[in-house]
Amino acid sequence: MTTLVETEEQKALRSAVAALGKRYGRDYLTKVVADGRHPDELWSEAAKLGYLGVNLPEAYGGGGCGIAELSIVLEELGAAGSPLLMMVVSPAICGTVIARFGTEEQKRAWLPGLADGTRTMAFGITEPDAGSNSHRITTTARRDGDTWLLNGRKVFISGVDIADATLIVGRTEDARTGSLKPCLFIVPRDADGFGRRRIDMELHGAEKQFELTLDDVRLPADALVGDEDAGLLQLFAGLNPERVMTAAFAIGMGRYALSRAVEYARERTVWKAPIGAHQAIAHPLAQSHIELELARLMMQKAAFLYDSGDDIAAGEAANMAKYAAAEACVKAVDQAVHTLGGNGLTREFGLASLITASRVSRIAPVSREMILNYVSHQTLGLPKSY
Ligand SMILES: Cc1cc2nc3c(=O)[nH]c(=O)nc-3n(C[C@H](O)[C@H](O)[C@H](O)COP(=O)(O)OP(=O)(O)OC[C@H]3O[C@@H](n4cnc5c(N)ncnc54)[C@H](O)[C@@H]3O)c2cc1C
Repeated sequence: MTTLVETEEQKALRSAVAALGKRYGRDYLTKVVADGRHPDELWSEAAKLGYLGVNLPEAYGGGGCGIAELSIVLEELGAAGSPLLMMVVSPAICGTVIARFGTEEQKRAWLPGLADGTRTMAFGITEPDAGSNSHRITTTARRDGDTWLLNGRKVFISGVDIADATLIVGRTEDARTGSLKPCLFIVPRDADGFGRRRIDMELHGAEKQFELTLDDVRLPADALVGDEDAGLLQLFAGLNPERVMTAAFAIGMGRYALSRAVEYARERTVWKAPIGAHQAIAHPLAQSHIELELARLMMQKAAFLYDSGDDIAAGEAANMAKYAAAEACVKAVDQAVHTLGGNGLTREFGLASLITASRVSRIAPVSREMILNYVSHQTLGLPKSY
């Protein structure tokens, strides 16, 4: 893929990460998942090389770059067949929110560990009765003397078992109006009253999803990240990087599937020429390549706007990038499986499991329909139906 819109440093980062990814690749991840382990070796090597904290401030052990660089890391690991899903939450959402809105103590306590990969943080916003409508979340934080008491439920939260803590989106009651404001709390994994139940997903991923219960979880005053009155702004400071990173995850996966299909189509011969000579096989692969390139361009735009400090424009671009990348990924994976015929469904070629995996980026962190709603209302000014 061409990299015309990237700086020399970004291109160098891309090829260095690609080389690391190649050393691990799909076989490594397949084995990790089969053994019920986590990709610890890849995680710590990527961290040691400075890739996981590339977006975090230098003063706290990070690389001092931005989401543009972090998305390059995730895309390239994914293109090699070994993406690290926790990158979407730990350095991208949690690291960003703490770096931008945390207190000096919170930054010192968390950022060096998030940057060097020795600590991870999960992120929990989704609730069973709210789903796409996050305005409806009911996890509530109440002040009790010098402490906070959190009560609520979360669902589909990734990596809670391996994360040292989870950044939980709750709400506090406005003393004057009684209305509920979104707020972010760092909840340690072993906090009393913080329960988790693994959800049995049909996904061959190392990172598991959990349903969480918060039952009178008592937290110190400094568990609150940022200002109680600026919750929404702070939340979106983390959600836009999450969308950019989900786009990177999807583009990486789409590229991986496409490269396997192209390899196969060049070799497999059942008539006179390899199947890749038939346009019914070649054109959809070419289309996927174009669509992944276009999605990456939008992702680069979103990352650029975010890193330039334009949160509003970055929001629109990050939504569009996530949409474009997810759709390109789903289509590329589908076509890759089809290109391999029966082999597309064998364990040996390992592409069929990507059919489920590719759908994740269409659903999470914000579904295809919610992005179309956003663009209909926010960009085009059309009326709302809900
Ligand atoms: C593998 C995986 C990992 C995840 N990890 C995390 C995580 O770490 N942290 C976290 O907080 N969450 C996580 N999630 C949750 C994810 O963000 C949600 O699944 C997603 O936001 C959708 O919510 P929902 O599943 O409740 O779907 P629902 O909101 O119930 O939506 C169901 C369907 O209805 C459609 N729909 C809903 N409202 C409308 C509307 N107004 N107009 C048109 N269509 C509509 C949706 O597009 C969707 O197709 C994860 C999910 C998955 C699958």
